[in-house]
Order: sequence, then C-alpha cells, then structure tokens
Amino acid sequence: MRLVLLGPPGAGKGTQASAIVEKYKIPHISTGDIFRANIKEGTALGKEAKSYMDKGLLVPDELVVSIVKDRLLKDDCTKGFLLDGFPRTVNQAESLDSELSKMGIELDRVININANAEILIERAVGRRICRECGATYHIKFNPPKVEGVCDKDGGELYQRDDDNESTVSTRINVYMEQTQPLIDYYGDKGLLLDVDGTLEISTVFELITEALDN
Ligand code: ADP
Ligand code: ADP
Repeated sequence: MRLVLLGPPGAGKGTQASAIVEKYKIPHISTGDIFRANIKEGTALGKEAKSYMDKGLLVPDELVVSIVKDRLLKDDCTKGFLLDGFPRTVNQAESLDSELSKMGIELDRVININANAEILIERAVGRRICRECGATYHIKFNPPKVEGVCDKDGGELYQRDDDNESTVSTRINVYMEQTQPLIDYYGDKGLLLDVDGTLEISTVFELITEALDN
C-alpha cells in the first residue's frame, strides 16, 4: 500500500501514521522526523532546516524532494510506504508524481485528516515526544502513565521548539496557503480520503482502516 497523509499541524498525522504502519507493515517516512534527526545529529542539513522550522516556515522544496527521492529507493519501500508531512506544496506533489512514474508505481490513497484551528493549537502545544523512540503523547488527550516519561522505553519526553502557540499559528497559515491546494490536486485524481480528525484517536484509526480495507 502506497499512502500519503495530509493534514495541518496537530491534526493527528504522526499518531495515526504509527498505527497504520504497524497494521500494514510498511515504512513510515516523516520528513519532519528526518529533519529533527538531522538537527539532533548536528548535520549541515539539520542546521539549514532548523532556521526555517523554528519560524514555522517550510524548508525549501529542493532540500525536501531529494531526501524523499533517496528514501523511496530503499529496499523496504518495495512493499509500500506511508509518507507523513510530504508533499506539502504543489511543486513537491508534482516531483513525487514524476519520481513514482519513473519507478513505475502509483499512490493508492491520500488520507486527509482535518480539524479546526482551535483544536490544532491545543493539540500541538500539548504535544510531548519521547527523545529515544519518537513516540507522541499529549498532556491532556493522550498522557503517558508517568508524567514526562515514555510508556514504551522510559525515555524522557520533550516539547518541540516549534510547538508554541505563535509558531503553531504561523504553521497553520502556511498550511492553508501552501498545502491546502493539494486537497484539490489529489481530489481531482480520485485519491482523497477525508477523515474527521476531531474524533478520538481510535475512531480516526477505525475510519481510516475501514476505508483502506474496502
Ligand atoms: P507537523 O506534524 O506538526 O505538521 P512536521 O513534523 O511534519 O510537523 O514538520 C515540522 C516542520 O518541518 C515544518 O514546519 C517544516 O518547517 C518542516 N517540514 C517537514 N516536512 C516538510 C516538507 N514536506 N516541506 C517543507 N518543510 C517541511
Ligand atoms: P501531526 O503529526 O498531524 O502534527 P500528531 O499526531 O503529532 O499530529 O498529534 C498532535 C497532538 O495531538 C499529539 O500530542 C497527539 O497525542 C494528539 N492527538 C492526535 N490525535 C488526536 C485525537 N484524535 N484526539 C486528541 N488528541 C490527539
């Protein structure tokens, strides 16, 4: 299964991605996670990406597209993949199309998770992430058993630098301007699956898997 997850910051893409890749045994490709790993390792790519991410702006297309192209050529992608947070511009979507057609493959579904700005801000600001495994929690909606500690591996939970109210608002505006047009782009291709992201985590997952399995 070859899938794309679309949705504004805080909609629940990463949360659903973890469950989807476990069920369908496909790799989870999150461009945000790739950038954060590069920032942690102090690479040149990480330094460049951070300057945009801290402001809530998109990293330039050239940087993102080449990373995703390389990743899609890895062996584990032959059985499918889930792209989370990519594409985010029409230019990225067109580059993805041309890359996939060179590989002789096509997307099966584009899952669009949505919620209103008030919910998105509350979710993103309350998000906490494990430093070790990247598992995502929410201080109110999906808290760990012990505050500040990952249930899975005991890792320390941290808050992303860009998960403050002002940067999240900028990111939502950037999404509206640059990423929202992809809803029509994939709608016109008949690939779009709209899911109400305001529902509970488990309900959103059921809606997605029901649609994918039918
Ligand atoms: P969220 O899950 O909150 O939407 P991500 O982790 O996907 O956030 O992305 C965090 C930041 O990384 C973005 O605000 C942007 O700066 C950068 N980024 C991630 N994916 C892309 C992309 N496809 N194109 C450009 N920038 C990206
Ligand atoms: P995205 O990748 O789209 O930015 P995440 O999956 O990281 O979003 O979710 C953002 C925050 O909201 C996280 O703290 C997560 O635990 C929480 N969350 C995700 N889905 C839901 C939901 N359906 N209901 C309540 N909280 C949610």
